[in-house]
Amino acid sequence: MPQTSIAVEIGGSVLRLGIVDSLGAILRSHREDSSHLCDQATASKLLYADIVEFIGSESFSEFAGIGISMAGLVDNEARSMVSASNLGWRDLHMGDEMEARTGARVTVDKDTNMSALGELQAGAGKGLDSFIYASLGTGVGGAVVYGGKLIRGIGNRGGEFGHLYAGGDAQCGCGLRGCLETVAGGAHITRRAREEAMRGQGAEMLRLANGDPEAITPVTVVQAAKQDDEVSLGLLSDAELAVGVGLLNAVRMIYPQAVILGGSIGSVRKFIFEPVKEYVERMSVLPGTNLPSVKVLPAALGDTAALIGAGLSVFRDLPTEIIP
Ligand SMILES: [Zn+2]
Repeated sequence: MPQTSIAVEIGGSVLRLGIVDSLGAILRSHREDSSHLCDQATASKLLYADIVEFIGSESFSEFAGIGISMAGLVDNEARSMVSASNLGWRDLHMGDEMEARTGARVTVDKDTNMSALGELQAGAGKGLDSFIYASLGTGVGGAVVYGGKLIRGIGNRGGEFGHLYAGGDAQCGCGLRGCLETVAGGAHITRRAREEAMRGQGAEMLRLANGDPEAITPVTVVQAAKQDDEVSLGLLSDAELAVGVGLLNAVRMIYPQAVILGGSIGSVRKFIFEPVKEYVERMSVLPGTNLPSVKVLPAALGDTAALIGAGLSVFRDLPTEIIP
């Protein structure tokens, strides 16, 4: 039984390939632009060529299989991409196509589920039976693990933390309005910061961006907040409150052992992670009882979670009778 797998992470702009062992260590990895995969008629052929070049062989027998993480709506059972807004794919049966080309076992899932699997088996979720995973980066993603398994919901749409309703009517990338992502996602924090700067607000943000509102990024907002810039503090406070309330509501529905919070925004300790942790842990205690609170833990795998989870998913989903 091979003890390594091939992990593939297809993002909106980046393709990552890795060789992952059954404990979740990345033995080797490679990243490149993903734009050559835009045409879905040739996507699996070009991805196959990328993988062959990466492993230096057309034989896949030394690997347990290929795990593919994709950003967007993914049908894990059909192993297809329902829709990927950045790459423009619709109903692309990547699992079947890659299996036909390689003869290898292929698993396919959305990036947030793969990340949660990575954290469960090799990161902050190790030893836990249940947790809510939330990742705040450019967008906001989530997943729910219960009984050691992902709660997928209908259409594999469970755990969409970024699309909880958070108030307001800002347009979200999913087509709906007022999603949590429009308050707490890096792209929307940037958009809101730039709008404020164009109105002449946020002097420290503007100074850090050399006077150019278009040069403001989430990093600018965090740096300006450290200098007590009121606009930046307000934006991060809105994000932190929306995430805290969203997580608390999710926690109260299922009472998992923990919340695992990560991503480039979720890892900002002073303005996001620490206040969210304090709020959720305090508010998840039932007054007058000794019931345990829900712990909020920092994600441990950083931006490698999805790649590691993709690699591990190949081992994890093997039918039990053939696990040695
Ligand atoms: Zn949305």
